Amino acid sequence: MAETRTPSMLEVFNEHFNRAARYVKAPADLLEYIRSCHSVYSIKFPVRIRGEVQIFHAYRAEHSHHRIPTKGGIRFAPDVDLDEVAALAALMTLKCAIVNLPFGGAKGAIALDPRAYEVEELERITRRYTTELVRKNFIGPAVDVPAPDMGTGEREMAWIADTYLMLHPNELNSLACVTGKPVGQGGIRGRTEATGRGVQYALREFFRHPELVKATGLQGDLAGKRIVVQGFGNVGRHFAQLMHAEDGVSIVGLAERDGTIYAPEGLDIPAVLQWRETTGSLKGFPDATTLDDARACLEFDCDILVPAALQNQITAENAGRIKAPLIAEGANGPTTWAGDAILRERGKVIIPDIYANAGGVTVSYFEWVKNLSHIRFGLMEKRIGIRTQRQMITGIETVTDRAFPTPIREEMLHGVDELALVNSGLEESMVESFQEIVEIMHHNQTPDLRTAAFVCGLHKVVMAYQELGIWP
Ligand code: NAD
Repeated sequence: MAETRTPSMLEVFNEHFNRAARYVKAPADLLEYIRSCHSVYSIKFPVRIRGEVQIFHAYRAEHSHHRIPTKGGIRFAPDVDLDEVAALAALMTLKCAIVNLPFGGAKGAIALDPRAYEVEELERITRRYTTELVRKNFIGPAVDVPAPDMGTGEREMAWIADTYLMLHPNELNSLACVTGKPVGQGGIRGRTEATGRGVQYALREFFRHPELVKATGLQGDLAGKRIVVQGFGNVGRHFAQLMHAEDGVSIVGLAERDGTIYAPEGLDIPAVLQWRETTGSLKGFPDATTLDDARACLEFDCDILVPAALQNQITAENAGRIKAPLIAEGANGPTTWAGDAILRERGKVIIPDIYANAGGVTVSYFEWVKNLSHIRFGLMEKRIGIRTQRQMITGIETVTDRAFPTPIREEMLHGVDELALVNSGLEESMVESFQEIVEIMHHNQTPDLRTAAFVCGLHKVVMAYQELGIWP
């Protein structure tokens, strides 16, 4: 398929949207309204950096107000523009609908390379951006709630929360103005790794559907599968760590912006983390082949490819050479429209970004609820749970006259804490929405999981507007 230039993320989103809209019964003007971005804020602000005034260009797009607040990450990236932010916000609207979260979609960005600034400079820039959002009412627990994305993390979210708090000293729910905060600053356990964990749960659920597995040509379950991960940042690193530790897979390839490592027998992920910590790079990791080409990993021989770095990685140029039969999109928009078409033609199965990376926003939802309820999940019920379990163990031991093995007894008496509850909620959410998508795929005869996921999200947004009585 021809692709003379790399399309913008918005163009790719529109193509997917239009393809899915054919399967949705709704007035054309309603669909057009849902496709469009409802509010955008494009700002320029000056910050003094090392004695010189620099002008920063930043954005916040609220794609849909059918649910309030809107929700979506903030990215720091050098070449981000309004189109990209609007496309990411649109993906967020459908993503939240797919996983049944009560949010409209949003996204924000500052056009900068975070590696080019000192920490205290980034802090001043982030705080200034937050102040601008407050001034135009583009942030707030009931308005619009940012979260981390590319180039940002807990640290930036803590600065955002603190700036918002300073400007709203009497607002009881201030901490719920942003999610992805450090646990000590009102964050929630499990948020940092939530997106990677969500991809893990998505893959586990995929392998519970034999008809889908058959379409890939793979055999059996996840155990023993060979996985390649592009991007060793928040999403990719946690995904690789969790899969390596818990699912019996082999991570055979990993890529960062400066190169790729490959080991057909599988990489020791904790050792890779240690290596990067020491050397600052994946390259040169012992017992692996190093390549300077960061994109080479996409074409490695493997069972599952997880692009988890950035957009527009699988294109018309390289889609014909992708070997993995199954692709799980950890990043947003890693596959262009033409790349997607080629992969589908070649029988590749794609678990799409709009579902696969929804774990982050799902746990962000838990954090928002925690901040609004002002209490840690599990606090009230933990001791009751442990007491009930103890009574049950004692009862069984009395009746059978046999003792429970110590490890089982210890596990049963551990009780559920916040992390266990978060992971349980996340798993339920990923499993439930995957089943909805598969149901739509079978029922509506949509040709692939991406179209079915778009239809799933669109249905719910259409229904929200129709229930309001605005559209018939
Ligand atoms: P991050 O900045 O923590 O990590 C991205 C990593 O990719 C970095 O380590 C970077 O060095 C690496 N990278 C950059 N260019 C690369 C290239 N050409 N080849 C290989 N690696 C490259 O960002 P993140 O939060 O992990 O986000 C990654 C993707 O996942 C983005 O598309 C983001 O929108 C999406 N996403 C993130 C979250 C989240 O909770 N953080 C949630 C949903 C989706």
